Amino acid sequence: MLELRRLRTYYGSIQALKDVSLTVSEGEIICLIGANGAGKTTTLMSISGLAPPRSGEILLNGRPIHHLPPNLIVAQGVVQVPEGRRIFPHLSVTENLDMGAFLRRDREGIKNDIEYIFSLFPLLAERRRQPGGTLSGGEQQMLAISRALMARPKLLLLDEPSLGLAPMIVHQIFEIIKKINIEQQTAILLVEQNANLALKTAHRGYVLENGSITLHDLAHKLLDHDDVKKAYLGL
Ligand code: ATP
Repeated sequence: MLELRRLRTYYGSIQALKDVSLTVSEGEIICLIGANGAGKTTTLMSISGLAPPRSGEILLNGRPIHHLPPNLIVAQGVVQVPEGRRIFPHLSVTENLDMGAFLRRDREGIKNDIEYIFSLFPLLAERRRQPGGTLSGGEQQMLAISRALMARPKLLLLDEPSLGLAPMIVHQIFEIIKKINIEQQTAILLVEQNANLALKTAHRGYVLENGSITLHDLAHKLLDHDDVKKAYLGL
Protein backbone atom coordinates (compact mmCIF):
# COMPACT_ATOMS: atom_id res chain seq x y z
CA MET A 1 0.00 0.00 0.00
CA LEU A 2 2.91 2.36 0.70
CA GLU A 3 5.98 2.63 -1.42
CA LEU A 4 8.93 4.97 -0.85
CA ARG A 5 11.15 5.32 -3.88
CA ARG A 6 14.62 6.77 -3.47
CA LEU A 7 13.69 9.49 -0.99
CA ARG A 8 16.16 12.27 -0.39
CA THR A 9 15.20 14.58 2.45
CA TYR A 10 17.25 17.54 3.63
CA TYR A 11 17.30 19.96 6.56
CA GLY A 12 18.85 22.98 4.83
CA SER A 13 22.10 21.64 3.44
CA ILE A 14 22.14 18.53 5.67
CA GLN A 15 20.99 15.42 3.83
CA ALA A 16 19.09 13.24 6.31
CA LEU A 17 17.77 10.60 3.86
CA LYS A 18 19.87 9.21 1.03
CA ASP A 19 17.76 7.27 -1.48
CA VAL A 20 15.54 5.57 1.07
CA SER A 21 13.26 2.99 -0.53
CA LEU A 22 10.85 0.76 1.37
CA THR A 23 7.43 -0.80 1.10
CA VAL A 24 4.58 -1.54 3.48
CA SER A 25 1.89 -3.96 2.32
CA GLU A 26 -1.68 -4.15 3.62
CA GLY A 27 -1.88 -5.66 7.06
CA GLU A 28 1.88 -5.62 7.63
CA ILE A 29 3.87 -4.40 10.61
CA ILE A 30 7.18 -3.05 9.35
CA CYS A 31 9.89 -1.81 11.67
CA LEU A 32 12.65 0.63 10.99
CA ILE A 33 15.62 0.30 13.30
CA GLY A 34 18.83 2.26 13.53
CA ALA A 35 21.07 4.32 15.79
CA ASN A 36 20.40 7.88 16.99
CA GLY A 37 20.40 10.28 14.08
CA ALA A 38 20.11 7.54 11.42
CA GLY A 39 17.04 9.22 9.89
CA LYS A 40 14.19 7.12 11.30
CA THR A 41 12.04 10.06 12.44
CA THR A 42 12.82 11.91 9.21
CA THR A 43 11.49 8.95 7.23
CA LEU A 44 8.17 9.14 9.09
CA MET A 45 8.04 12.94 8.76
CA SER A 46 8.68 12.67 5.03
CA ILE A 47 5.74 10.29 4.68
CA SER A 48 3.40 12.44 6.77
CA GLY A 49 4.35 15.61 4.88
CA LEU A 50 6.11 17.35 7.79
CA ALA A 51 9.56 17.04 6.16
CA PRO A 52 8.77 16.59 2.46
CA PRO A 53 11.49 14.90 0.39
CA ARG A 54 13.50 16.99 -2.05
CA SER A 55 13.41 14.13 -4.52
CA GLY A 56 11.99 10.64 -4.79
CA GLU A 57 8.42 9.46 -4.61
CA ILE A 58 5.94 8.34 -1.97
CA LEU A 59 3.08 6.30 -3.36
CA LEU A 60 -0.02 5.28 -1.43
CA ASN A 61 -1.91 2.56 -3.28
CA GLY A 62 -0.04 3.61 -6.40
CA ARG A 63 -0.86 7.32 -6.11
CA PRO A 64 1.77 9.95 -5.27
CA ILE A 65 1.28 11.70 -1.91
CA HIS A 66 4.67 13.42 -1.50
CA HIS A 67 3.36 16.72 -2.86
CA LEU A 68 0.36 16.81 -0.45
CA PRO A 69 0.19 18.92 2.75
CA PRO A 70 0.03 16.99 6.06
CA ASN A 71 -3.73 17.41 6.56
CA LEU A 72 -4.50 15.82 3.19
CA ILE A 73 -2.11 12.97 3.94
CA VAL A 74 -4.06 12.31 7.16
CA ALA A 75 -7.25 12.42 5.10
CA GLN A 76 -5.76 9.63 2.94
CA GLY A 77 -5.51 7.46 6.06
CA VAL A 78 -1.83 7.92 6.94
CA VAL A 79 -1.52 9.03 10.57
CA GLN A 80 1.60 9.61 12.64
CA VAL A 81 2.01 9.19 16.39
CA PRO A 82 4.95 11.51 17.09
CA GLU A 83 7.90 10.74 19.32
CA GLY A 84 7.39 12.05 22.86
CA ARG A 85 3.60 11.65 22.68
CA ARG A 86 2.60 15.32 22.20
CA ILE A 87 -0.96 15.01 23.40
CA PHE A 88 -2.90 18.17 24.30
CA PRO A 89 -2.09 18.49 28.04
CA HIS A 90 -4.94 20.83 28.98
CA LEU A 91 -7.64 18.89 27.16
CA SER A 92 -9.33 15.89 28.76
CA VAL A 93 -8.77 12.36 27.50
CA THR A 94 -12.09 12.45 25.64
CA GLU A 95 -11.35 15.87 24.14
CA ASN A 96 -7.96 14.59 22.95
CA LEU A 97 -9.74 11.71 21.25
CA ASP A 98 -12.24 14.11 19.65
CA MET A 99 -9.29 16.09 18.22
CA GLY A 100 -8.12 12.91 16.49
CA ALA A 101 -11.48 12.72 14.72
CA PHE A 102 -11.38 16.31 13.46
CA LEU A 103 -11.77 15.29 9.81
CA ARG A 104 -14.76 13.03 10.47
CA ARG A 105 -18.45 13.85 10.47
CA ASP A 106 -19.89 10.40 11.30
CA ARG A 107 -20.98 10.92 14.90
CA GLU A 108 -22.12 7.35 15.41
CA GLY A 109 -18.83 5.96 14.06
CA ILE A 110 -16.85 8.31 16.31
CA LYS A 111 -18.83 7.15 19.34
CA ASN A 112 -18.22 3.50 18.46
CA ASP A 113 -14.53 4.11 17.96
CA ILE A 114 -14.22 5.78 21.37
CA GLU A 115 -15.89 2.72 22.92
CA TYR A 116 -13.47 0.44 21.04
CA ILE A 117 -10.52 2.49 22.29
CA PHE A 118 -11.80 2.36 25.85
CA SER A 119 -12.02 -1.43 25.51
CA LEU A 120 -8.39 -1.54 24.30
CA PHE A 121 -7.22 0.82 27.04
CA PRO A 122 -9.53 0.53 30.08
CA LEU A 123 -7.24 2.92 31.97
CA LEU A 124 -8.17 5.69 29.56
CA ALA A 125 -11.85 5.00 30.15
CA GLU A 126 -11.33 5.46 33.90
CA ARG A 127 -9.52 8.73 33.26
CA ARG A 128 -11.74 10.05 30.48
CA ARG A 129 -12.38 13.41 32.17
CA GLN A 130 -8.82 13.92 33.37
CA PRO A 131 -6.55 16.45 31.57
CA GLY A 132 -4.09 14.62 29.29
CA GLY A 133 -1.13 16.33 30.97
CA THR A 134 -1.92 14.65 34.31
CA LEU A 135 -1.61 11.11 32.89
CA SER A 136 1.50 8.98 33.40
CA GLY A 137 3.97 8.60 30.52
CA GLY A 138 2.55 5.20 29.58
CA GLU A 139 -1.04 6.48 29.68
CA GLN A 140 -0.05 9.47 27.52
CA GLN A 141 1.46 7.06 24.97
CA MET A 142 -1.80 5.08 25.02
CA LEU A 143 -3.71 8.32 24.47
CA ALA A 144 -1.41 9.39 21.62
CA ILE A 145 -1.97 6.06 19.85
CA SER A 146 -5.70 6.25 20.55
CA ARG A 147 -5.95 9.79 19.20
CA ALA A 148 -4.33 8.59 15.97
CA LEU A 149 -6.79 5.66 15.79
CA MET A 150 -9.67 8.14 15.90
CA ALA A 151 -8.67 9.22 12.39
CA ARG A 152 -9.35 5.61 11.21
CA PRO A 153 -5.85 5.13 9.80
CA LYS A 154 -5.08 2.65 7.06
CA LEU A 155 -1.43 3.12 7.94
CA LEU A 156 -0.19 4.10 11.39
CA LEU A 157 3.28 5.63 11.70
CA LEU A 158 4.59 5.01 15.22
CA ASP A 159 7.69 6.91 16.37
CA GLU A 160 9.46 5.30 19.35
CA PRO A 161 6.41 4.17 21.33
CA SER A 162 8.66 2.62 24.00
CA LEU A 163 10.65 5.79 24.71
CA GLY A 164 11.06 6.46 28.43
CA LEU A 165 8.51 3.86 29.55
CA ALA A 166 8.86 1.05 32.10
CA PRO A 167 9.27 -2.45 30.54
CA MET A 168 5.87 -3.67 31.75
CA ILE A 169 4.06 -0.72 30.15
CA VAL A 170 6.08 -1.15 26.96
CA HIS A 171 5.01 -4.79 26.84
CA GLN A 172 1.33 -3.81 27.23
CA ILE A 173 1.58 -1.16 24.52
CA PHE A 174 3.23 -3.53 22.06
CA GLU A 175 0.57 -6.18 22.70
CA ILE A 176 -2.04 -3.58 21.81
CA ILE A 177 -0.14 -2.50 18.70
CA LYS A 178 -0.33 -6.13 17.51
CA LYS A 179 -4.01 -6.29 18.42
CA ILE A 180 -4.80 -3.13 16.42
CA ASN A 181 -2.92 -4.59 13.45
CA ILE A 182 -4.91 -7.82 13.59
CA GLU A 183 -8.36 -6.54 14.59
CA GLN A 184 -8.43 -3.36 12.49
CA GLN A 185 -6.17 -4.61 9.68
CA THR A 186 -4.18 -1.40 10.17
CA ALA A 187 -0.74 -1.49 8.56
CA ILE A 188 1.96 -0.18 10.87
CA LEU A 189 5.35 1.40 10.22
CA LEU A 190 7.16 1.30 13.53
CA VAL A 191 10.31 3.25 14.36
CA GLU A 192 12.06 1.86 17.42
CA GLN A 193 15.42 2.08 19.19
CA ASN A 194 14.50 -1.13 21.00
CA ALA A 195 15.46 -3.34 18.06
CA ASN A 196 14.78 -6.60 19.85
CA LEU A 197 11.20 -5.67 20.65
CA ALA A 198 10.59 -4.09 17.25
CA LEU A 199 11.82 -7.15 15.37
CA LYS A 200 9.78 -9.48 17.56
CA THR A 201 6.66 -7.41 16.80
CA ALA A 202 7.12 -6.76 13.07
CA HIS A 203 6.71 -8.99 10.04
CA ARG A 204 9.61 -7.36 8.19
CA GLY A 205 12.28 -4.85 9.10
CA TYR A 206 14.64 -2.30 7.59
CA VAL A 207 17.94 -1.12 9.05
CA LEU A 208 18.78 2.54 8.52
CA GLU A 209 22.36 3.81 8.90
CA ASN A 210 23.40 7.39 8.22
CA GLY A 211 20.33 8.03 6.09
CA SER A 212 20.59 4.87 3.97
CA ILE A 213 18.84 1.51 4.17
CA THR A 214 21.61 -1.06 4.66
CA LEU A 215 19.57 -4.22 5.28
CA HIS A 216 16.02 -5.41 4.94
CA ASP A 217 14.49 -8.81 5.48
CA LEU A 218 11.86 -10.77 7.35
CA ALA A 219 12.01 -9.67 10.98
CA HIS A 220 12.91 -13.12 12.31
CA LYS A 221 15.82 -13.31 9.85
CA LEU A 222 17.12 -9.91 10.94
CA LEU A 223 16.96 -11.08 14.56
CA ASP A 224 19.38 -13.80 13.53
CA HIS A 225 21.62 -11.63 11.35
CA ASP A 226 25.17 -11.27 12.69
CA ASP A 227 25.47 -7.52 11.92
CA VAL A 228 22.09 -6.79 13.54
CA LYS A 229 22.98 -8.89 16.58
CA LYS A 230 26.25 -7.04 17.03
CA ALA A 231 25.11 -3.49 16.32
CA TYR A 232 21.55 -3.43 17.67
CA LEU A 233 20.89 -6.41 19.91
CA GLY A 234 24.03 -6.25 22.06
CA LEU A 235 24.81 -9.92 21.40
P1 ATP B 1 16.65 9.51 16.98
O1 ATP B 1 16.49 8.09 17.30
O2 ATP B 1 17.74 10.16 17.76
O3 ATP B 1 15.37 10.29 16.98
P2 ATP B 1 16.55 9.30 14.09
O4 ATP B 1 17.08 8.06 13.48
O5 ATP B 1 15.08 9.42 14.21
O6 ATP B 1 17.25 9.55 15.48
P3 ATP B 1 16.42 11.83 12.72
O7 ATP B 1 15.79 12.53 13.88
O8 ATP B 1 15.58 11.50 11.55
O9 ATP B 1 17.14 10.49 13.22
O10 ATP B 1 17.69 12.68 12.25
C1 ATP B 1 18.42 12.39 11.06
C2 ATP B 1 19.47 13.47 10.85
O11 ATP B 1 18.85 14.72 10.55
C3 ATP B 1 20.36 13.71 12.07
O12 ATP B 1 21.66 13.98 11.61
C4 ATP B 1 19.75 14.94 12.70
O13 ATP B 1 20.72 15.68 13.41
C5 ATP B 1 19.23 15.71 11.50
N1 ATP B 1 18.03 16.50 11.84
C6 ATP B 1 16.87 16.02 12.32
N2 ATP B 1 15.97 17.02 12.49
C7 ATP B 1 16.60 18.15 12.09
C8 ATP B 1 16.21 19.54 12.04
N3 ATP B 1 14.98 19.93 12.39
N4 ATP B 1 17.13 20.42 11.59
C9 ATP B 1 18.37 20.03 11.21
N5 ATP B 1 18.79 18.75 11.23
C10 ATP B 1 17.94 17.82 11.68
